[in-house]
Amino acid sequence: MSKRRDAEKPILEGLRFECKKGCIKCCEIPGAVFVHESEIPAMAKFFNLTPEEFISAHLNRHLGGVYQFNFDDDEPCRFLQPSGCSIYEVRPAQCSSFPFWPENISNPDEWEKLRAMCPGIGRGRVFSIDEITEIMTTVCYGPFIY
Ligand code: SF4
Ligand code: SF4
Repeated sequence: MSKRRDAEKPILEGLRFECKKGCIKCCEIPGAVFVHESEIPAMAKFFNLTPEEFISAHLNRHLGGVYQFNFDDDEPCRFLQPSGCSIYEVRPAQCSSFPFWPENISNPDEWEKLRAMCPGIGRGRVFSIDEITEIMTTVCYGPFIY
């Protein structure tokens, strides 16, 4: 078997991951957080707002049905608190699908690189390739079309 085939084997067998309680490392990284329009009603309800009020207070339109939270891209997410995400129950798919983003599992090296940042990698249960594929579909929209 070639070296490349050997390196691919762990991904084909699934990937082990469990978000570490209390960790906020990925949320601390400054950058845009995108929200699909289908996610807005639940977020608005969480804040006791109408979807229109929620959009006006927290979102900027990005493209088509895709919005982004209206904080600067060079700041960490506004909804991050020292104890974690303050909107965890309704956080966008961009967040709930991490680290199973296509760019992170495109090859074993990318997944290995993530270990330096994310302490959840290599912990917990194994996610099958089918599960990972299903998770990835939740972020394959707008800016995340791969
Ligand atoms: S860096 Fe990893 S373990 Fe930490 S919060 Fe993000 S996904 Fe969870
Ligand atoms: S919405 Fe929550 S999970 Fe997503 S980046 Fe902000 S604090 Fe993190």
